[in-house]
Amino acid sequence: MVEVISEEAFEKEALDFLQSNAEPRVEITRQWGEGSDKVSLFPERTPEEDQADLKEAQSWSKLRFDAGFGWITGPEEYGGRNLPRSYQRIYDHLETGFNIPSQAVFGIGLGMIAPTILAHATEEVKKKYLRSLYRGDIVACQLFSEPSSGSDLASLQTKAIKDGDEWVINGQKVWTSGAHLSDIGEIICRTDPNVEKHRGLTGFVVDMHAPGVEVRPLRQITGGASFNEVFFTDVRIPDSHRLGDVNAGWTVALTTLMNERAAIGGGGGGSGLGSLGTWRLMELVRQMGKSSDPLIRQDLAQVIINLKIASYTNIRAMSKLAANQLPGPEMSIAKLSLTQNFVRICNLLSEVLGMKITADSGEWGTYAWSEFLLSVPGMRIAGGTDEVMHNIVGERVLGLPKEPKLA
Ligand SMILES: Cc1cc2nc3c(=O)[nH]c(=O)nc-3n(C[C@H](O)[C@H](O)[C@H](O)COP(=O)(O)OP(=O)(O)OC[C@H]3O[C@@H](n4cnc5c(N)ncnc54)[C@H](O)[C@@H]3O)c2cc1C
Repeated sequence: MVEVISEEAFEKEALDFLQSNAEPRVEITRQWGEGSDKVSLFPERTPEEDQADLKEAQSWSKLRFDAGFGWITGPEEYGGRNLPRSYQRIYDHLETGFNIPSQAVFGIGLGMIAPTILAHATEEVKKKYLRSLYRGDIVACQLFSEPSSGSDLASLQTKAIKDGDEWVINGQKVWTSGAHLSDIGEIICRTDPNVEKHRGLTGFVVDMHAPGVEVRPLRQITGGASFNEVFFTDVRIPDSHRLGDVNAGWTVALTTLMNERAAIGGGGGGSGLGSLGTWRLMELVRQMGKSSDPLIRQDLAQVIINLKIASYTNIRAMSKLAANQLPGPEMSIAKLSLTQNFVRICNLLSEVLGMKITADSGEWGTYAWSEFLLSVPGMRIAGGTDEVMHNIVGERVLGLPKEPKLA
């Protein structure tokens, strides 16, 4: 029998690794007017910056994986270390004390696609991709939404037709975050147009470098292009790359969507702004001479209280996952708490900044918030819109009547 390393020994091993390979994080001096005043929810990078960030992210993920900290809870046969979640928490906590390159580029792959592969893929696909995903050798994207299918995902039209041991894919996906940097994607296709819409779908892992895959960037309101349109013309996928059974793609999609809501609701512990963002908000109120305005104080207090509520809701959802239970509407509540608080923050910013949010006066820490304001609508749509989350909470938590379904 293999002996499990004790938590104390693991912690020492992890600390040794981090101390030998990364610089300790130095507490940033919170000084108004100093450093970058950027407050962003989406990456606003040029293609060159994207590539440079990817390389940097990969150099760390490879180092971490090879040292045994890349997939602490994963099954050994696919490259994991098979340790309980408490070991992952120990490592994550230690890593926050060190400066490491952002790993955001792997967020969709590790947060959503890898768990789906682990749950639904063939042995061949698990062996081929899981280790590479966790090592950061490859990046993955989520190919679900189409021009006429977003909230009503089950109505999607991209076709997969069986041809011998392969499937031939034709159609278009849209809003695919990170497709331009991805090596593989999880795609949901229509495999039977003659049955009820949820029953005619099948999931696959598609090679994003295969002939017939074309990725076109979409520019967002804040200037960057972090998502794309993806066109599929006679793209061939081996049957071994199918996820789950033929026509059982809805279950596969739900596995991914549950993990997506968890990831978005997570939002860095609930605020999505990080601790510096919260400090910036409070300091902004002071700097703009509004800290004794009773209405502004009340709104600021509401934001801070709700940041806490959002983070507790998220912990509730995460503990269900940690206990190997299937999370239910908690994920929708966690996502809604986060985005509703973003809206509160936007209202507060408009009150405090007035015209300074619409015209750049050059004053540090003021107009910079406009990027945050323009990103919030995207957060309210991504991973299921606020309205759809309200429907889920209404039906599954409050027991309200189901909304009428279209065919
Ligand atoms: C930043 C960002 C990143 C994204 N990344 C990805 C990605 O990587 N991969 C991917 O596949 N997709 C991605 N998406 C797409 C996202 O999943 C869809 O935009 C979302 O599901 C909504 O679909 P839609 O845009 O087609 O809007 P629609 O579904 O057409 O909705 C339009 C409006 O109608 C409302 N509405 C729709 N149905 C109902 C209903 N039943 N009850 C009440 N109101 C309703 C919606 O709330 C919305 O206001 C991303 C989106 C964003 C904004």
